[in-house]
Amino acid sequence: MSSTVGTSGTNGTAVVAQSNTTEEVVAELRRRSSFMFVSHVKPDGDTLGAGLALGLALKSLGKRVGYFQQDPVPRNLRFLPDADRVARDVPADLPADTLWVFCDMSDFTRAGEFLPKIDRANMLDVDHHLGNSHFGAMNYVIPTEASTGTCVLRLLRALDVEITPDIATCILTTIMTDTGAFMHTNTTADVLRMSAEMMELGADKPQITEEIFANKRFAATKLLGMALERAVLEDDGRYCWTYVDEAMLRECDADGEDTEEIVQHLRAVDGVEAAALFKDYEGAVRVSLRSSGRINVQAAAASLGGGGHFMASGLTFEGDLRGAVAAVHASLRAQGL
Ligand code: AMP
Ligand code: MN
Ligand code: MN
Repeated sequence: MSSTVGTSGTNGTAVVAQSNTTEEVVAELRRRSSFMFVSHVKPDGDTLGAGLALGLALKSLGKRVGYFQQDPVPRNLRFLPDADRVARDVPADLPADTLWVFCDMSDFTRAGEFLPKIDRANMLDVDHHLGNSHFGAMNYVIPTEASTGTCVLRLLRALDVEITPDIATCILTTIMTDTGAFMHTNTTADVLRMSAEMMELGADKPQITEEIFANKRFAATKLLGMALERAVLEDDGRYCWTYVDEAMLRECDADGEDTEEIVQHLRAVDGVEAAALFKDYEGAVRVSLRSSGRINVQAAAASLGGGGHFMASGLTFEGDLRGAVAAVHASLRAQGL
């Protein structure tokens, strides 16, 4: 199938970016013999699971497969099959016609600063973000899909490869990551059917639940408490935000991976329509935004150079925490907060 994404051109005219069809992408996958999968910075279960799943399938077809990722695999995703093969290195003997497959990113800049120079002709972009820049020579971008992994599942079906238990675990991980373990509104009946199918094919749902959602470090629980204690409720209870800074991380013996679930607690407050977590460490202020359905947080993030989805987005702010708090507040108000 093909999908079209309407975006707005610089002169105000409508630009329609056309995605490649499943058949076109599958023909390209069959034609190439070497692949490098790229995940976004601060990787999550979708960017990683989608690439690992497609990589496992291509390996079963006798293809050469490697994985490039700027940041280390987070502790809670190390259980994924082949996760130990993911690194920041590019093999010295990589064939020149290697296809670089970017998973779950609206632009290749989300891959970070360590990516080697890659010819656009060798880029395939597989994604489900709103406002994807279609940066590849081939783009498989389906914003109606719940995860990049379910875009990959379409490709796997068309490739007619066996979906092994390992592949099924990767795909189910992408779904559970991006639906918040089936909590978010993108959890359609179709998503549940696909998930059931992945379980029937051997996906280890109890393991995914335990590794990603049920097992938290004590440090993460302490940090959650500290962040919630500092939470602020504004705009007549429609906006809730808090922050985590270096001192809080130090005091809890926590790191950035321990901040994952904080923002959803803010979003879950009765009456809250938009929530924000400001992560003020590692030399930048990174912001996670969440919506309850009325406010478009993708548009708010995009106005500050970030991106994401209607209900979940993020950005990196150039400036200090105070400046970030003010800018994000203004961007949310511009979206009707
Ligand atoms: P997070 O709050 O980190 O879970 O991210 C929520 C969503 O926003 C994900 O879909 C991310 O891909 C997207 N996102 C996060 N940070 C950025 C950024 N700096 N630029 C573009 N998109 C982002
Ligand atoms: Mn992601
Ligand atoms: Mn995703």
